[in-house]
Amino acid sequence: MIYLDHSATTPVDERVVEAMAPFWTTLYGNPSSIYGLGRRAAAALEDARRRIAHLLNCQPAEVIFTSCGTESDNLALRGVMLAAASRGKRHIVTTPIEHHAVLHTVTDLVEHFDCEVTLVPVDRAGLVEPAAVAAAIRPDTALVSVMLANNEVGTIQPIAEIAALTRARGVLLHTDAVQAGGYLPLDVEALGVDLLALSAHKFYGPKGVGLLYVRRGVRLLPVQTGGGQERGRRSGTENVPYIVGMARALELAQAEREAETQRLAGLRQRLIAGLTGRIPGITLTGHPTQRLPGHVSLLVAGVEAEALLIALDLAGIAASSGSACATGAPTPSHVLTAMGYQPQEAMGALRLTLGRANTEADVDFVVARLAEIVARLRGQA
Ligand SMILES: *Cc1c(COP(=O)(O)O)cnc(C)c1O
Repeated sequence: MIYLDHSATTPVDERVVEAMAPFWTTLYGNPSSIYGLGRRAAAALEDARRRIAHLLNCQPAEVIFTSCGTESDNLALRGVMLAAASRGKRHIVTTPIEHHAVLHTVTDLVEHFDCEVTLVPVDRAGLVEPAAVAAAIRPDTALVSVMLANNEVGTIQPIAEIAALTRARGVLLHTDAVQAGGYLPLDVEALGVDLLALSAHKFYGPKGVGLLYVRRGVRLLPVQTGGGQERGRRSGTENVPYIVGMARALELAQAEREAETQRLAGLRQRLIAGLTGRIPGITLTGHPTQRLPGHVSLLVAGVEAEALLIALDLAGIAASSGSACATGAPTPSHVLTAMGYQPQEAMGALRLTLGRANTEADVDFVVARLAEIVARLRGQA
């Protein structure tokens, strides 16, 4: 099988599996326990927090461990908005191309907590204009949330520029950096963000663990209350093996980032050139250069994505139509329609996301198979 869905999830790196191993059956203590076994778990937890803080260029106390990227986005949005509501600030600014972890949370805040939202439009490449974000800020705006990189089309947003504007207005900025974890620098000072969400399974760590960076001084109401872990901001016994694994995975991804980015960008260009050269009626979506290194998103005219994905699966190629979360009834992508594509065009969306194991031979195989499949589905072969 050729796996081309690294934006959906990644395999766990063997070195990460190894780092996690002792924490299942040997060092299984509860970090809150007083005896040696608990203290060793607590030490591993705090070591992971320090190493992650080093990579993010922040203080360890500013890192909250969560159960996934979705929870991190929920904690950022609900935590900030519900804390701000008591000061009369109920307005949030975001974009229509965010992951559902952000958009559905915003909807919930609007429907059930009296919040108001402004969606700042994006252009045809999926880019948000920093000045348009600034223009959407009101006196009652508590939070701006703009993703660092888009999961469906790979477009990378000018977060540092947006941060300069939100900071000047005294408004907090959250970024969903889940897709960026393995591919972009995550220095929160350089980015200028106040909150940043990551998820381990998008950078060769385990599923079911994530983190939220929260700048010191940001008022955040906890979403989950209980034993007071994570300085009261996220109660629940810490998942020590997964957190240790996430720290190792992030270290490896960031250490190998530059070389891997260069390699993947080469494969990406080979894939784009091969497909657009061989298949008529194919369009690259997202930004041509400001995009994740291994990310290829396309529209294939006259073909339904679902039929394409099934045929690719039969040919041993795992791909997606854009979002791993959009199961069930085929509806056009909210990202592509926000970028100005017609619903009918958006139904032919194909996402091929490259990763560590992929080679030039994989790319050439995929180009050849896809050309055959598209011709067959269009009734030309
Ligand atoms: C995958 C993803 C999430 C959700 O992360 P989970 O850990 O799967 O809950 C959120 N935002 C973006 C941009 C993602 O790609």
